[in-house]
Amino acid sequence: MDSWPRYGGLLLSPPETGAAAERVATSTATENSAVPTAERNGAATLSFQATQCAICGPGIPAKELYPANFGVDDITPARFSARRLPDRVHYRMVRCSSCGLVRSDPVLDEATLAHLYAESTFDYEAETANLKATYGRYLAKLRAFSNHQDSLLEIGCGDGFFLEQALAQGYSTVRGVEPSEAAIRDASPVVRDQIVCDVMRPGLFADGEFDAVCLFQVFDHVPHPEAVLAACRAALRPGGLILCLNHNVESVSSHIMKERSPIIDIEHTYLYSPATMRRIFEAGGFRVLKQGHVSNTYSVGYVTHLVPMPARLKGMALGSLSRSRLGRLTVPVPLGNLFLIASRT
Ligand SMILES: [Zn+2]
Repeated sequence: MDSWPRYGGLLLSPPETGAAAERVATSTATENSAVPTAERNGAATLSFQATQCAICGPGIPAKELYPANFGVDDITPARFSARRLPDRVHYRMVRCSSCGLVRSDPVLDEATLAHLYAESTFDYEAETANLKATYGRYLAKLRAFSNHQDSLLEIGCGDGFFLEQALAQGYSTVRGVEPSEAAIRDASPVVRDQIVCDVMRPGLFADGEFDAVCLFQVFDHVPHPEAVLAACRAALRPGGLILCLNHNVESVSSHIMKERSPIIDIEHTYLYSPATMRRIFEAGGFRVLKQGHVSNTYSVGYVTHLVPMPARLKGMALGSLSRSRLGRLTVPVPLGNLFLIASRT
């Protein structure tokens, strides 16, 4: 297992599971079923693991929302890169019959997923000024709940653009966790040494080290959100604040577009509504202080990225926008994101 997984066009599973390969598209795995694998050229395989509700735990029935629609060739680091073009490739999606939490099931095994994120790239520099403005607005809200805001940790910080924003807002200590080495290489020297190349896990930071922990468009990507919350909670001082911003599976656009919604995507292991966000944070030892809908600041070019249209047409539209001032014009767009601010109990 030590040399596995690797990526070079092929992902190889250990031989013992490869022998029992099964097409993933027909998989109906549940918590207790055998781990399905997808065959590629009769030899190389991908392995998948069943998931369980991150709020209710194992053994709770779930209803299928959408069957999986990807092939083995779709699994590349590019698909797991930050803010790539959404392309409607997704796992089988289910909804917990007890609490309503939406999740992918089964998903790529954790080692493969970690590897894909480590190899992923950070290619949204053009949008970082707008993201700084959007995320900065939400960071500023924390001071309403605690005026002792000095140290901050961001999970999945990319090239650290938000850490620079936190410094500008007066935080004296900023740290980041980011699995992509390429993203960290792109970081400004001001914050680069403050970024740990890893995924958030227990023991990465001292207990109670931070006044604030932030997650932007990360919480719906992690395979075990309850474990990430526990690690974040440990890193926070008692009364410390957590700020989380991610997609809302019950947004208007999500209801209208259903399976065509850009959030129904293979990058997302879980998708939250305001109700399931509140529940998972309360279950994780947090007191929810504020929740709401997010209006992001985006360029017209980026919004065009998200609109469903044929690839050729989209390529032409993006090409002409990138050459025009219109493409750089920014607009506030309620794209179906939600935010939550909670304190460590
Ligand atoms: Zn549940």
